[in-house]
Amino acid sequence: MSELGKLLDDVIGLSERIIGPGVVHLDQTAEFPKQAGRELGSLGVLGLLSAKDVGGMGLKAPAAVRVVEAIAQRCGSTAMILSMHYCSVLAIEAFANEDIRKKHASGERLGTLAFSEFGSRSNFWAPVSTATPGPNGFSLNAEKSWVTSANHADDYVWSSKPHSAAGPMTLWLVPADSAGLSVGPAFDGLGLRGNDSTSISAKDVAVGEDAQLGEDGKGLDFGLGVITPHFNLLSAACSLGLMEAAVERAIKQATSARLTHLNSRLCDLPTIRAYLAKARIKTDMVRSLVYDAADALATGREDTLLRVLEAKAAAGEMSLEVIDLGMRVCGGAAFRKEFGLERIFRDARAASVMAPTTDALYDFIGRALCGMELFS
Ligand SMILES: Cc1cc2nc3c(=O)[nH]c(=O)nc-3n(C[C@H](O)[C@H](O)[C@H](O)COP(=O)(O)OP(=O)(O)OC[C@H]3O[C@@H](n4cnc5c(N)ncnc54)[C@H](O)[C@@H]3O)c2cc1C
Repeated sequence: MSELGKLLDDVIGLSERIIGPGVVHLDQTAEFPKQAGRELGSLGVLGLLSAKDVGGMGLKAPAAVRVVEAIAQRCGSTAMILSMHYCSVLAIEAFANEDIRKKHASGERLGTLAFSEFGSRSNFWAPVSTATPGPNGFSLNAEKSWVTSANHADDYVWSSKPHSAAGPMTLWLVPADSAGLSVGPAFDGLGLRGNDSTSISAKDVAVGEDAQLGEDGKGLDFGLGVITPHFNLLSAACSLGLMEAAVERAIKQATSARLTHLNSRLCDLPTIRAYLAKARIKTDMVRSLVYDAADALATGREDTLLRVLEAKAAAGEMSLEVIDLGMRVCGGAAFRKEFGLERIFRDARAASVMAPTTDALYDFIGRALCGMELFS
């Protein structure tokens, strides 16, 4: 069996044993999935994108997509927490010191992205937060609007305006225990309720020169060239896992619910079978696109940019269509919390507003098609 095959078996096993059984409690209480995080760490999953020389698995986007998809089938929150960790690891791998890289590869430290700000909202490519040079490094001031794992991450990959250069963005590695950081109110969201996504305020947070990730003013190059393509794919993988879970539930209901007076099952109705067929086709179409986009990114294909933009937009929007079909198949049962489909519906809503939002993606894709610059 391949390394990825073995890893997926382990991840699916963990999802069946721990992640899936915990999802109702997580959704009710908005509790962070700590045990799942520990178990993923001990399986080496947190180090999937870390290089082998620091103890990671040295795998690429296609493997991360498969793992996130498998977890999202059982818990959207855990899948998104892992996705944000992977995105932070990309910057840590590229720019941080060996000690930090090892700690993220081993799962000892959890990372996340702190990009979105109250000032520039979902337009993360235009941070308004600042970094000011001081005698021993820099002072960071920011109002970050949404940070997944805000209370549970050990390190934030953080964006600011440059301190000296002209470019739009500089990246930082900010330890969560830095003095001057304060995390906002507990997350009580519509969906992804376990992912602890809340605001973080930074007031004169002192960081050393070594906290800067890459060159001053070049953060957006790395953000758009490396982090965003991976985030798009991982967000798409979350949507894909949620779609698959909806299809699975709908098939189960259609083949088990009985119309006693007709001595038949729901799936004996042609309308129900057609809904299932449409849901299956849409899910498989998205899977083909997402896997192809992941392959494009891993192999450096020329169409990578377009593919990864398309993948997030298609998966985010089509997941809503597929879940709607699932809810039609399941009828009133879909309205009941214990059935689980309404949680999938709520979790899936996040993708279209997570940056780049679907609206921004449509604009970027249109610009790419017309040979225009993405930003002007
Ligand atoms: C569950 C969850 C977890 C999150 N986790 C993180 C995280 O870990 N790190 C992080 O940095 N951020 C995170 N975010 C933030 C996310 O990436 C977005 O920045 C945020 O959802 C945008 O919300 P907003 O109210 O600021 O939207 P707004 O920017 O106010 O958008 C409102 C509407 O305007 C549209 N719009 C805005 N700008 C454009 C544009 N340029 N082109 C076209 N349409 C546009 C949007 O599509 C949307 O429909 C998270 C969000 C959620 C919901």
